[in-house]
Amino acid sequence: MTTLTPVLSANWDRADSFTLEGYRATGGYQALRTALGMAPDTLVDLVKASGLRGRGGAGFPTGMKWGFLPKDNPNPRYLVVNADESEPGTCKDVPLLLANPHVLVEGVIISAYAIRSSQAFIYVRGEVLHVIRRLRHAVEEARAAGLIGTDILGSGFDLDVVVHAGAGAYICGEETALLDSLEGYRGQPRLKPPFPAVAGLYASPTVVNNVESIASVPAIVANGAEWFTAMGTEKSAGFGFFSLSGHVTRPGQYEAPLGITLRELLDMAGGIRAGHRLKFWTPGGSSTPIFTEEHLDTPLDFESVGAAGSMLGTRALQIFDETTCVVRAVGRWIEFYAHESCGKCTPCREGNYWMVQVLDRLEHGQGTEADLDKLLDICDNLLGRSFCALGDGAASPVMSSIKHFRQEYIDHVAQGGCPFDHRKSTVWA
Ligand code: NAD
Ligand code: SF4
Repeated sequence: MTTLTPVLSANWDRADSFTLEGYRATGGYQALRTALGMAPDTLVDLVKASGLRGRGGAGFPTGMKWGFLPKDNPNPRYLVVNADESEPGTCKDVPLLLANPHVLVEGVIISAYAIRSSQAFIYVRGEVLHVIRRLRHAVEEARAAGLIGTDILGSGFDLDVVVHAGAGAYICGEETALLDSLEGYRGQPRLKPPFPAVAGLYASPTVVNNVESIASVPAIVANGAEWFTAMGTEKSAGFGFFSLSGHVTRPGQYEAPLGITLRELLDMAGGIRAGHRLKFWTPGGSSTPIFTEEHLDTPLDFESVGAAGSMLGTRALQIFDETTCVVRAVGRWIEFYAHESCGKCTPCREGNYWMVQVLDRLEHGQGTEADLDKLLDICDNLLGRSFCALGDGAASPVMSSIKHFRQEYIDHVAQGGCPFDHRKSTVWA
């Protein structure tokens, strides 16, 4: 039986967990002292050895990304933290930043030192003003305590940290669109390669990492790579947040080793809401193919979820019981993608628009069985043919829902509309 591993969430119950004093009282900024006593390259090697993989969804090895920074480029290096969390269902970075902003600030200082950067940016989703205020306050507290600025703790290392409010667009969470937005342009994805590590912010070498990835660094420095690799699986080391939402008795953040299963998480969360049973769920936000009851025991690590036909993504587990219409749920997600498509490429701009039309007419009784093929055909033109991951992500819930619930789509056609009473599914009320 896998148990919870509260590390980043260990002190969330303390009333002063978000203050510098509260963070220091629980050992905060000790890892920074240790890190500043190490050579930057040794820190990069430590993060590589820990096996930490990007917690923003894609799971790219963090230390390897740091190692891609070219050694011969004379331009300044930048560290950019992606705090533009917006994927439907994804809700881990915001509570972390509210309850424990200093763990990110400490992670930023250590990571910037490791990659030899003296300028860091934290790009926060523009809508969460309360989070931006709290983070800015934490940065100012750290600055006043000599943890940000010149000659940090007498080490000779200088760093400035800017908290930047995002532009209110989902696409600005895509790392290159984020960089455009940070430079003051309209946020649209750039062609990759070159990856940001080679040519990122202001065409300079840039590391872009998710909040949870950078926040995990102080614990790795404090406890060592072996401590981290002892948790999780061989290729998906460590712990992470599993965000349970929807038809679950106790929704919330469950910090646990990668490889835990939904069945185990549901045991901790009081199960599906009383009197109901699991119908479908997302392992990592709405852009990951949906799972069903048959995947309850799939280990939630990158490899196992991939082998079972989905992606671990952001570990945003949205849980739906039998009262939820899958066509309606998928339709809501695709409306989101159609609204948030930046319009740069045709498959995503047009494909999402048309999928909304088709799903809407199926839901409202004007669909035909041929619409299923039409949806799959549009997905075929999205998947692998879109400029960025938004297009691929939008195809995922449509294709996987038709795979698992084809009959439910056909029922919508046969019965001349949706067979569900949406008032029973409180998620969509
Ligand atoms: P990606 O696989 O293209 O890249 C992942 C990271 O690895 C990037 O930082 C990229 O620069 C780096 N990288 C990859 N190959 C590289 C190479 N050869 N050299 C140097 N660096 C390299 O994925 P992505 O498009 O950045 O992200 C897609 C993921 O984002 C999805 O899986 C989804 O789960 C997630 N997502 C998260 C949110 C959220 O709110 N957190 C929102 C939408 C999507
Ligand atoms: Fe923009 Fe969508 Fe194309 Fe991405 S896939 S570049 S969001 S239009």
